Formats: sequence, structure tokens, C-alpha cells
Amino acid sequence: MHKLMLSFIFLIVVFYMIVPYCITRIFGVWAFKKAKHAKQIAFTFDDGPNPLYTPQLLDLLHKHGIKATFFVLGSKAEQYPDLIKRMYKEGHQIGIHNYRHVANWMMTPVRVRNKQVDRTADIIEQITGERPHYYRPPWGCVNLGDLLLLRKTYRIILWSIMAWDWKPGGDAGKLKQILMKNLKPGSIILLHDSGDTPGADLDAPEFMLEALREVLQEIKPLGYECVRVDQLMEAEQAQVGTSAEHKGNYPDEMESQDAISSH
Ligand SMILES: [Zn+2]
Repeated sequence: MHKLMLSFIFLIVVFYMIVPYCITRIFGVWAFKKAKHAKQIAFTFDDGPNPLYTPQLLDLLHKHGIKATFFVLGSKAEQYPDLIKRMYKEGHQIGIHNYRHVANWMMTPVRVRNKQVDRTADIIEQITGERPHYYRPPWGCVNLGDLLLLRKTYRIILWSIMAWDWKPGGDAGKLKQILMKNLKPGSIILLHDSGDTPGADLDAPEFMLEALREVLQEIKPLGYECVRVDQLMEAEQAQVGTSAEHKGNYPDEMESQDAISSH
């Protein structure tokens, strides 16, 4: 009986958590994590808005004329609606990062959809008048049901560059080095404008901002165009060409097919 129970738990872990993780995170199937053909890059910022760091980040982006994507928590959007309004007014894309920073592995798909994703979409829509359709799950963890339930309404967005910018003992120099070393056309860069989630450091965004200031200066002469994730996906679709357009495919689906065919 004991052995049967253990096998049952093992199967749940594998099929509910590990398989969806590998499908999206490793193989890039049913999630968009980079552009393969478009040359633009997309900066994304998770876990905010934060009253101390988000305004500084918005100032910096404004200074460089850059549009970015913010995956915000519904609970914080509720708390700081003016920051959401400012993001929206300044032309940034607003995506969803759950109502609270909870891993989807710990919830049922219905709960994820109703209490985390739809709830946050409602809050953002109330503030901006526009309903968001892009979603990044906390820690990039989707469960099996998310792939079936959420994908009908929301685009799941992951990343191609993670710089560990939330960690304690922040080092702006090292962070800048990681970003510059890994940056390439089509990259989606994951950064954080808030450091109060589990495992993160409260002051971490300070180092992120310091590094980003230098990165934005350095990439200017390299000719990178920084765009929102939705714009990157559009550019990808345009690059892939008319054959895919005729089929009505989207970049993540095209990537899925690439991934399937190459494995
Ligand atoms: Zn997060």
C-alpha cells in the first residue's frame, strides 16, 4: 500500500510538474521564450510594481526611449494602481505574473486560472481599460492543466536570459557581464523590479538598475532595438514569412513545431 502511494505521488510529480516544465522551459513548446528570426530584443521585469524601484526603472526606460514588458502581481497592482497607469501611459506592455507569487505546481489548474490569472487580468483591466493576454508564471512553473486551460486565452511567455538579479549579495558588475555576454538578437531578458518575493533580496533591484543603466548605454552603438514582447512576437511572425501567416500560426506554435521536429 505504502509503495502504491509512493508510485502515485511520483506519477503526479512527473506528469503534473516535470513534464509541463520540460515542454515549456526546455523545449520551448507552447511558450514563447525567444525569437529565432527577429533581430529585436525584449526586456521584461517581473514581481512588481514596487513603489521604490519601479519609478526609477520607468525613468531609465523613458530616458532611453525604450518600451518594455512588466509581468506584474495582481496584489501589487491593486496596491499601486498609479504605477500601473504610468506603465500603460508610457507605452509599456503589462502582463500577468499571478495575483500572489505562488508556484502553479502548488495549485489546481482551476485555481490558477480563476484566483491568480483571471483575477489579475481583471485588476489590470480595471486600471488601464485594456485586458492583458500575456502571462508569465512565477519561476516559470506551469502545471499540466495550465497548458490546457490557460493557453486558450493567454500567451505563456518565458525568457532566454536569466541573470540571477534577485539574489542576495548583488553585484552590478557581474550582472552587467552576464547580460552583455548572453545578449543576442531575439533575446527575452528576465529581470526584476521588486525584491520581496521568497528567495529574493529586498535591495536586489538597486543592483539591477545599476547594471541596466550601463547595459543600455553599451548596447546603443550595437544597434539593438528594444521592444515589448508582443512586438517581438509580431516581428518574429513577420520574419518567418507568409507561409506561416497563411496557416495562421503564431511564433510560439512555430517554435513548438521546430522543437518537435528537431527532437
Ligand atoms: Zn517572479
